[in-house]
Amino acid sequence: MNIHEYQAKELLRSYGVPVPAGNVAFSDAQAYSIAEELGGDRWVVKAQIHAGGRGKAGGVKVARSLDEVRKIADEMIGMTLVTHQTGPRGRVVKRVLIEEASDIVDEFYLGFVIDRASQRITIVASAEGGVEIEEVAKRNPQAIIKETIDPAIGLADFQCRKVAAAMGLRDKERMTQLVRIMKRIYRCFRDKDALQAEINPLAQVDGGKLICLDAKFNFDTNALYRHPDVNELRDLDEEDPKEVEASGHGLNYIALDGDIGCIVNGAGLAMATMDAITLHGGRPANFLDVGGGASPEKVTNACRIVMEDPNVKALLVNIFAGINRCDWIATGLIQAYQTLNIELPMVVRLAGTNVEEGRKILEESGLPFVQAANLDDAAAKAVATVKGESA
Ligand code: GDP
Ligand code: MN
Repeated sequence: MNIHEYQAKELLRSYGVPVPAGNVAFSDAQAYSIAEELGGDRWVVKAQIHAGGRGKAGGVKVARSLDEVRKIADEMIGMTLVTHQTGPRGRVVKRVLIEEASDIVDEFYLGFVIDRASQRITIVASAEGGVEIEEVAKRNPQAIIKETIDPAIGLADFQCRKVAAAMGLRDKERMTQLVRIMKRIYRCFRDKDALQAEINPLAQVDGGKLICLDAKFNFDTNALYRHPDVNELRDLDEEDPKEVEASGHGLNYIALDGDIGCIVNGAGLAMATMDAITLHGGRPANFLDVGGGASPEKVTNACRIVMEDPNVKALLVNIFAGINRCDWIATGLIQAYQTLNIELPMVVRLAGTNVEEGRKILEESGLPFVQAANLDDAAAKAVATVKGESA
């Protein structure tokens, strides 16, 4: 689960990490009064969306008067911001962060991620900040340093100093600041079950102080039950509405960009189905695990959510019934066909408990189900259907 920059900064502030003074505004009038309260003569107005790359896309602007703060906020709120991370449809800006402006002397990159190979929290840092880390990784990989944290020991001072040296912060004052910042972010990351924290840029400002000018946090959804304070920060406006709706029905749905809608029980089988589609030259429109004990109602909800995606040209239902029963699934599919007026071709592969009854029910329904013998056959038929259509 992602949160907004202003929320991430509030969280960091509560851990004693230096961030610029600022506050969130939902209107231009509010933006004006926040800037007035902050004082000073320069402010930064930043669009709050769950995507990076705002700077280049016009979502980060400096204002030199209170009227300019109001004007920029007015322009930003309600605009659709398209960055390289939002996709072509972009995101509508609903809130802006108003901050005191900083005079940047140097920009660094500081990230915390969970490294899957070592299964440990790992620091990724670079002296090249303020630019995309993916670009640095491609262009100049040796400019990136990685440091893995042993959970039994925690983040050690020498590791922080190693990172500081790699960033070029060799004087004692800067090093001390960076060690403190890194340790506090690490504590926050670990306490809150974060999956990713990215400070880009971590800036050295006029006077030598290090400060987090941008902050991005991602949290483990499976651990949210023990962090009600983090869960409060969720902004459903920023999430795919189909994914939000699906989770409300106990379905695990992830939107993708292909054209074959997948309805599968079990996460492993759902992954295998996506692989099979790809192997046959097709592209899945989604990941969907309807779970065990998929009732006709659940199947109908699953079909509806999958079909809400306008890219979907065919449906592939792949059910391996263990606890489930194929006859029940078949009944659910017929119900879905009728209540949702499905017009898309639907390839169905059933296996497991009561498979014969299930197939017979589909067969005798008179509806245009395309039955498949196995996973491979199902994927081949779904891909052929879609290709036939687009040809
Ligand atoms: P992103 O583009 O979505 O990653 O947004 P950032 O928060 O990283 O802002 C983009 C860029 O705006 C930063 O890399 C900085 O160069 C610049 N920026 C952000 N805050 C300030 C500020 O207070 N003063 C100045 N001069 N530049 C800023
Ligand atoms: Mn940034």
